Amino acid sequence: MHFATWLLCFFSSSLFALGSSAVITWHNTSPTAPHVEAVPEWIHHGIDKTVSALGELPNNVIPVSVYYMKHAKEPVPWGEILRGEPDSIKLYIDEHASLSALTADWTLYHELAHLYHPRLDNHDSWLAEGLATYLQNVIMLKGDIISNRDFVERIKAGLERGELATKQFAGQLSQISNNMWQLKAYQRVYWSGVAFFIEAELELQSKCADCNMVKLLARYQTCCRDNKTINVSQSATVFLSYFDMLAENNMFMPLYKRYKSRRDFPYISENQIIKILNRYTKQVAVR
Ligand SMILES: [Zn+2]
Repeated sequence: MHFATWLLCFFSSSLFALGSSAVITWHNTSPTAPHVEAVPEWIHHGIDKTVSALGELPNNVIPVSVYYMKHAKEPVPWGEILRGEPDSIKLYIDEHASLSALTADWTLYHELAHLYHPRLDNHDSWLAEGLATYLQNVIMLKGDIISNRDFVERIKAGLERGELATKQFAGQLSQISNNMWQLKAYQRVYWSGVAFFIEAELELQSKCADCNMVKLLARYQTCCRDNKTINVSQSATVFLSYFDMLAENNMFMPLYKRYKSRRDFPYISENQIIKILNRYTKQVAVR
């Protein structure tokens, strides 16, 4: 028996203006009455916030598959990106989640952020997950979904979890990344990657006053993204070499080489997180 599938397409004028739309497909079930409108509104809103923060998405149409999860402990307990032509997103949601709870959850922003980079080799998953986790916080900050203080606290708390997990999962970061799923070493992998992008962002700032990761990533989409290799994972060295080229600096590759073999967790101070905050917000509200 095939799963009942309920298909809904929606297009918004603002999404059209920015060249992005979503096609939502329900699996396992049809949506409950409140979710008929709430889920498309949530996904629409998420795409809108993401595009406003990061620039146009690489694909015009984003297929999104939605599944219900019973007895979920979070509004969106699971999300993943499926690489293909085009890349698509799979989301598991709590069948009772309200629109405001869905909107406040980070998972959708995280998966949308993954669309801005190619599939990377497993041993480089710390870079892919670090970038998506870093950008999800930038999207939520710029979209007024979290406050300035939330931004700093979330990153601080994540880095603390990453540091704790590094004691549990010892070894080189690239090896732990390669076995992340078997080990369940998510916190070390994700947050080591976030630390990488905080360091990269600050170094970028010191070398190029008008550069930031978001601007580089937007330029990468148009100049350098190779869509022919969409189903093939790419080495991070190829991916990052474009950033060095765009920034006209040789900083990403040396930082990458230092991180991939590191056994410790990087130290990032609160002051550094506040500098990142100030990079993405005009108001200096956190001291
Ligand atoms: Zn991810």
